[in-house]
Amino acid sequence: MSWGEVGDHEGYSRVVFVDGRVGQGSLGLLMRSPTGGVMARALDAEGRPHGTSEIRDGRIAIGCRAACVCGWQGPLREKTDGDEAADRWGQLPDDVDDALFWQWQEHVRSVALASVGDLAAKAAGIAKRLTAAVLEARLAGSSWSDLGAAASISRQSAHERWSEQDKAPRVAGAGRGRRRSAKS
Ligand SMILES: [Zn+2]
Repeated sequence: MSWGEVGDHEGYSRVVFVDGRVGQGSLGLLMRSPTGGVMARALDAEGRPHGTSEIRDGRIAIGCRAACVCGWQGPLREKTDGDEAADRWGQLPDDVDDALFWQWQEHVRSVALASVGDLAAKAAGIAKRLTAAVLEARLAGSSWSDLGAAASISRQSAHERWSEQDKAPRVAGAGRGRRRSAKS
């Protein structure tokens, strides 16, 4: 039972059995069958299901946890005396499912924030290199039209964006083939 998708993440709750097998969702048409149960599968080291699945009674699960298709798993929430057990089909009580949902939400939030930090740092690095390249192109005689065309923006935008830092000689006709005048 998925909580939905956010980018590369899709979260769900699952019951956990004493041998490490986990519930893989309800058994569709057998939902109301007295012999129905939850499909239990073992997980490999990366948390992916492997081996054959077997049907188990969800009520013997030792607990449950939140999980995500990206491989993240929340901590095991052990069934306590106070907790209502999962039902035969591995369905958790709403309050338990809600608590697991918030753990998954926090997982997605922290991963997304880390990406924002990482990408912002990369973007800042690229912006710096871009400015350096623009200034070099200016010193080598490129016009704002040349730079606008190269950056797929208008001449005006190129000028607004980089002219403050521009050190190219501001002489009419400055440009191609003209030697940079020595600074006095
Ligand atoms: Zn995830």
